[in-house]
Amino acid sequence: MHVRRLKCMRCGAHHEPNDHIYVCSCHGPDGILDVEYDYAAISASCRREELQDGQGMWRYRPLLPLRADTPVPPLRVGATPLIQADRLAAELGLHRLWVKDEGVQPTGSLKDRASAMAVAKAREVGAEIICTASTGNAAAALAGLCASDGLPCVIFVPESAPPAKVAQMLAYGATVLLVEGDYDQAFDLCLQAADHFAWYNRNTAFNPYMAEGKKTVSLEICEQRGWQAPDVVMVSVGDGCILAGVHKGLSDLLALGWIDKMPRLLGVQAAGSNYLAEAWARGEDVNDKTAICPGTVADSLSVGLPRDRLKAMRAIERTGGAFVQVDDEAILQAIPTLARLTGIFAEPAGAAVVAGLKVAASQGLVTADDDIVIINTGNGLKDVGSARRSVTLAGDSAYMVAADLSAVEALGLAGAGGAK
Ligand SMILES: *Cc1c(COP(=O)(O)O)cnc(C)c1O
Ligand SMILES: [Zn+2]
Repeated sequence: MHVRRLKCMRCGAHHEPNDHIYVCSCHGPDGILDVEYDYAAISASCRREELQDGQGMWRYRPLLPLRADTPVPPLRVGATPLIQADRLAAELGLHRLWVKDEGVQPTGSLKDRASAMAVAKAREVGAEIICTASTGNAAAALAGLCASDGLPCVIFVPESAPPAKVAQMLAYGATVLLVEGDYDQAFDLCLQAADHFAWYNRNTAFNPYMAEGKKTVSLEICEQRGWQAPDVVMVSVGDGCILAGVHKGLSDLLALGWIDKMPRLLGVQAAGSNYLAEAWARGEDVNDKTAICPGTVADSLSVGLPRDRLKAMRAIERTGGAFVQVDDEAILQAIPTLARLTGIFAEPAGAAVVAGLKVAASQGLVTADDDIVIINTGNGLKDVGSARRSVTLAGDSAYMVAADLSAVEALGLAGAGGAK
């Protein structure tokens, strides 16, 4: 393993990567750690042409914080498609647009990358139980990855979590606690419980390795493009851990010389859960900006105090990027837009990136010359209620017909009449 040390995002103190450290000893849960690598050692041990085939995200193991003998869970995570989206590009007045589709991950969201890493790290330290707080997808991912590896898990979700996600966790055999409160309260309760019962804690932006799992999405994007970095990468943002991971992967590749430029990163937030976008617009310091009261149809983005706010702001600042905001109606409209123009069916938090790209284009944050990658973070089947609202909003509904051909004929569908 090529981890050099862990660095506190708040005070810059360095820590040794031992089995029991999550956060900076001086700063507690606010002292999120960044994993630093020995890039010279990585370069000496592996060239980009020598990455091993197979097993999805573990292809990038030389760039990951795992010991050589650590087993990884068997469920295959990663190796998701990067799809050229010409019709969606044309709709938005753009020319070069790609969608990285994380909706096809085994549990249906990008969170599988982090949860797979959590299970591997838990095995490394010999943990017997893993826990996490989640708005839904991180927990569903942990439940699935734990099930594949025969490891028990305890899940803390807000009671408002979409029923499909809760059903998914229960089907995988997870112990699910519906917390009477919001995600932020579930997060704090999970921290206390993990400490009290000595469970391995997967909490986003508390466990420093989650962004390391998520960074594999950037590694894949660049490799799928023949190691040509795009001009822009855009993703939706709740806690900010995906954005941080996307940035980390690109930073690693740049440090190794595997890509030759850093893309601009654009983060999309729901207008009703806009802590980071607001801080960005107002130039506020996220070290002491207080929590907001979130509310959005995109449950995966509903966060009062983004736990990975320091890394998320760093990603935007260091890459010349920006945040944009989109309201719930735009998010819902984006579900059928993305589905019809690409065949990708996304949950609201995933489709939000399409709404965000539209805003970014209108604000001149991207132009027709830019080579752009957007990430769909989650599958539409995760939240069928929102999908139904989105098609109703688009004015579309199914036809009721009698079980009789004349009833179909009476609809006057396109192409009818010509056929024999
Ligand atoms: C978790 C999640 C996000 C946001 O990721 P953060 O790391 O919380 O910023 C976006 N979309 C989906 C589908 C998610 O599950
Ligand atoms: Zn610190």
